Amino acid sequence: MSVPLYQVPEQQPSVWQPTSVEEAMHLKHKWGDKAVLISGGTWLRTRWENGVSPLPQHLISLARIQALSGLAMDAGGQIHIGPSLRLADLMDSELMQMKCALLVKACAEIAAPSVRNLASIGGNVVTRTGDLIAALLVMDAQVVCSDGTAEYTLPLAKWLDAPTQPTSEVMTGIKVPNTDIEDAESTFEFYLKVGRREAFTPSVVTVAGRLGLAPDQTILSIALAAGGGSAVPARFADLEAAAIGRPLSKDLLQLLHTGVSEGFQAVPDDYAGVAYRKQTAANLIVSECYKVWRKGGGANAPKS
Ligand SMILES: Cc1cc2nc3c(=O)[nH]c(=O)nc-3n(C[C@H](O)[C@H](O)[C@H](O)COP(=O)(O)OP(=O)(O)OC[C@H]3O[C@@H](n4cnc5c(N)ncnc54)[C@H](O)[C@@H]3O)c2cc1C
Repeated sequence: MSVPLYQVPEQQPSVWQPTSVEEAMHLKHKWGDKAVLISGGTWLRTRWENGVSPLPQHLISLARIQALSGLAMDAGGQIHIGPSLRLADLMDSELMQMKCALLVKACAEIAAPSVRNLASIGGNVVTRTGDLIAALLVMDAQVVCSDGTAEYTLPLAKWLDAPTQPTSEVMTGIKVPNTDIEDAESTFEFYLKVGRREAFTPSVVTVAGRLGLAPDQTILSIALAAGGGSAVPARFADLEAAAIGRPLSKDLLQLLHTGVSEGFQAVPDDYAGVAYRKQTAANLIVSECYKVWRKGGGANAPKS
């Protein structure tokens, strides 16, 4: 059994450093709401400092659980990402740069290097509003969670669908399938974040997309996602289904614009309303699809 790393009086929390998921869950079950799991602590700190949540009595650090920080590709090309992996390490990884370039791009848009040296990918996803989620959604990522006795795997989109996530589970893995699209002549990806300034800024809107095109510009596969601010990022399943099999065209771009604008469940705050966020998400996605159309060439492709 682990022992507290330090225990300071005057209501400072005890920090526990379990070395296995089972031990972490044992501690969590023991203290219930008086304890929180902590990875990099960068998100939790902002909540404590802003008075959004109280500092708990016990912090259960996941840092020493080695099984949570691996990074590997299996024989089928699926990438297994440990949730404790720091964003800076993820960005430095050649495997990630080669196989998950979209995720690397999304990481580079988060905070600043000092935060990325601490912040974990799992912590970003578990918040349900992290800026990495839109990218992971279009990569068809799955999450693996454990209550300390058994693990289950769920598509990230389904996991996000639940109204709240259980606080008595550890996310033990993030899996990204091999998304090389068979038969596609070309695959295009994009990730964009709009904030209130150019860099080091919380998101107002994030969008991500992945398109597989046939030589005649017909859409063989399409994945689109939007999030940002307090919105839980989501895919546009009906819109994607309506786009498959159609060639890129002005009509299709119009359909995408309307579909994203209507389907994005934006959340207003003091800085931007719902209408602005919906229009921004739709404009960003359509302008990226327009670029794909132009880049792909073809008889009807725009020249500028
Ligand atoms: C200055 C600053 C700027 C920031 N900018 C951005 C930004 O631009 N975009 C953005 O998305 N975020 C931003 N953040 C928030 C934060 O840095 C990221 O979301 C980060 O990835 C969170 O990871 P963490 O390891 O620090 O999470 P933590 O704070 O440790 O944890 C976050 C939540 O996840 C839970 N948790 C963590 N790991 C697990 C696990 N394996 N299983 C179960 N639960 C777990 C914790 O209990 C907690 O509820 C910023 C934070 C700061 C301080």
